[in-house]
Amino acid sequence: MTEHIAAQHAFFQTGATRSIAFRKKQLKQLKKMLRENEDRLYEAIYADFKKSRFETYTSEVALLEQDIDDALKNVSTWAANKCVSTNLANFPGKSYIQPEPFGVSLVIGAWNYPYLLSLGPVIPAIAAGNTVVLKPSELPDHTAQLMKSLVSSYFDPEFFTVVTGGVETSTELLKQPFQKIFFTGSPKVGKIVYQAAAKQLIPVTLELGGKSPAFVTKHANIKRTVQRLVWGKFLNAGQTCIAPDYVWVEASIANKFLQALKAQILKMNYAFENDNYMQIINTDHVDRLVGYLEDATVFFGGDHNRDHRFISPTILTDVTFESRCMQEEIFGPILPVLFYENLAEAIAKTKQLPKPLSCYVFSDNQKEQHQITETLSFGGGAINDTIMHISNPKLPFGGVGQSGIGSYHGEAGFKTFSHYKSMLKKANWIELPLKYPPYTARKLRWIKRLLSW
Ligand code: NAD
Repeated sequence: MTEHIAAQHAFFQTGATRSIAFRKKQLKQLKKMLRENEDRLYEAIYADFKKSRFETYTSEVALLEQDIDDALKNVSTWAANKCVSTNLANFPGKSYIQPEPFGVSLVIGAWNYPYLLSLGPVIPAIAAGNTVVLKPSELPDHTAQLMKSLVSSYFDPEFFTVVTGGVETSTELLKQPFQKIFFTGSPKVGKIVYQAAAKQLIPVTLELGGKSPAFVTKHANIKRTVQRLVWGKFLNAGQTCIAPDYVWVEASIANKFLQALKAQILKMNYAFENDNYMQIINTDHVDRLVGYLEDATVFFGGDHNRDHRFISPTILTDVTFESRCMQEEIFGPILPVLFYENLAEAIAKTKQLPKPLSCYVFSDNQKEQHQITETLSFGGGAINDTIMHISNPKLPFGGVGQSGIGSYHGEAGFKTFSHYKSMLKKANWIELPLKYPPYTARKLRWIKRLLSW
């Protein structure tokens, strides 16, 4: 492993990754790898947790291709020096900001979207001119092994390589002399990564999780709300970092909302036997999720089969902030519904939890939309939708507080993998000798006069 990293340092030192043509060539190669192996990508993820072609394409491959295309189109602009105005003290001169790659970067991925969360950060790492060591999550083994094999046949390891393994491998990697670490995963492991990086002062981006709330007020369009909420919650069987974790519903529409929610789930035809739905990643997670059913009322669903790693879309009621499902991120197909009489109180209660990765507001009332989005702090979100903000590369994606540090996608990703040098270029044709000793009262008067202009 250490030889790979040493080889990447040596390769980075050659300056090859500085060229925009080189970066574009590698991005095209990544796209080629995805295109030429589409079927293998689908087969591996199906073997891991029965994720369908449809969902793998729409929620992983299509987003990767979009990000690659966006980077190909814009990398020259992103990588160009940006001129800024020059202050009087630096006359005559020119000021500019020069992006440069950090160098050898480490990307650690999470399991729930194995392609998107592993290869997604690699795109801006390449666009910004870094080399990459990728460590995907070990839980979906077929996808991890496939990415390792594909990357080794499409890329030179001194530029981009995949290392597979679990905690031990990550722990070893975190001791290595990387120049940038990009981590996606739980807040618990995020802290371990941050501490390890601190020992070498390595810049870190942490894409973490949390309990993302959804609010449904009496001013919501119920038909659209349940359609978008159910889709966002049960996509990937709820194993989505930005899935609505729980929902606050105005008490006056409780019954109407619950009936519509149930009808919508039935309409979407989620079943173990079809490709509309997928498995839970492993039996440990099945056991954890089933535990949440114990101290709440199962209003709908609740069917589960440990051998099949299946839990049907489930709605819980009679939930309080003390219930088990409210103690940690759910990360599965279970939706607790809480009711409120007063929106301000529901917001205040939500604020007691750590800042989430997302927040969703279902209301056509602008005052309510502002009240929620301006009072709560969260990574990003949507009004009258769920999840879809992730699909716009113009929107930086990332958390705040416990849900993460930094962001990516589009230009935000390029910035995350770049250092921005501040540069002043001075002309030699004149010099105002005021700042040089010997210091005199006259010089000081002139300096004050000039600086107050
Ligand atoms: P995790 O933190 O358990 O694992 C993530 C990665 O860290 C894996 O590659 C794993 O091998 C490695 N790892 C695990 N323990 C480690 C340790 N002690 N030291 C070093 N490395 C270690 O997370 P997960 O279970 O894969 O993913 C679920 C979490 O990730 C949820 O909290 C979810 O919200 C979050 N998530 C966030 C995003 C995002 O974009 N912000 C996306 C997906 C998932």
